Amino acid sequence: MIFKSIKGKVDETNDNLLRARITEESGAGKSHAGICEGVPGNWRTYRNRLKNMRVPCTKCGTEILEATAKANDGLCGPCSRGAGFCVVCGKRVWVANKTGEYIHINCSLKIRDEEVAAASGISWSRPNEIDWDALGDGILAATQRCFTRVADANQNRIIKDVVVAYRIGEGVGVEPCVTFSDGEYLNASLDDDSLFNDLEPFDSAIIRIEEDLDDEQREQFIELLESRVPPLMEWVFEALKRSNFGLDLAEGCNKTLKVF
Ligand SMILES: [Zn+2]
Ligand SMILES: [Zn+2]
Repeated sequence: MIFKSIKGKVDETNDNLLRARITEESGAGKSHAGICEGVPGNWRTYRNRLKNMRVPCTKCGTEILEATAKANDGLCGPCSRGAGFCVVCGKRVWVANKTGEYIHINCSLKIRDEEVAAASGISWSRPNEIDWDALGDGILAATQRCFTRVADANQNRIIKDVVVAYRIGEGVGVEPCVTFSDGEYLNASLDDDSLFNDLEPFDSAIIRIEEDLDDEQREQFIELLESRVPPLMEWVFEALKRSNFGLDLAEGCNKTLKVF
C-alpha cells in the first residue's frame, strides 16, 4: 500500500477524537479511501505504519521503503545505481565486471585457484591433506625445467653462482637465479612464465587451503609450512645439485639455497 494522503482533524468536543480520511493506493494503482477514527496517538501510529511500510526490491529482495521503490522503479538504491550481488559469495558488488558479471576480484581469483587445482588433479583442501612428496616432486621438476631453459638459452656461458630462493606461505614461490662469469645476473623465474605455470597448480592449492582457514588455523598452517617446506626445499636443492642443475658451472661455483 502506498500512502497517498491523510486528512483529519481533532474533534475537541468529543474526547479529542480524531476523524481522518485516509487514502491509500494498492500496488495495482487502485485507490482506497477509509475513515480512521481514534485518539491522535493511534492516528499517528497508523500514519507512520503506512509511511514506513517496506516492500522487497524487485532485483535483490532487500526490504526498502515504498517511497524508495516508487522513486526507483521498484529497486533499492544500490540496485538502481547498477549494483548487484557476487555470484560466488552473494555479497554486494557495486560494479559489474567487463563481461557484465557481478563478482568480487578475490572471489574470481578463488574460483580460478579452484579450477587450476582441479584441472591438475590436486584435491588438497585441508592442511593435513597436502601430499608433501608430490609437492617436492612438483617443485623439483618445475625448477629443473627452468634451469634447463636457462642452459639452452645460454650455451657456452659459464655460471659462477647459483641461487635457489623460495618462499614460505602465500602459496609456492621458487626463484632460480644464476650469475654468469661475466657478471650478468639472471632471475630465471622472471624470464618466462613457464616456471610460474608449472608451479601454479601447487600454488593455487596451497592458497586455497590458506583462504579457508580462520586466523588461529592460519597461524598453525604457517607453522606447519615453516616446519615442512625448508626440509622439502633442501631435498629439492640436493637433487638439483647432483645434476649440477643441468648447467655449465664454473669451478668452485657457489650454490646457495635461501628463503626470500
Ligand atoms: Zn536491490
Ligand atoms: Zn564475492
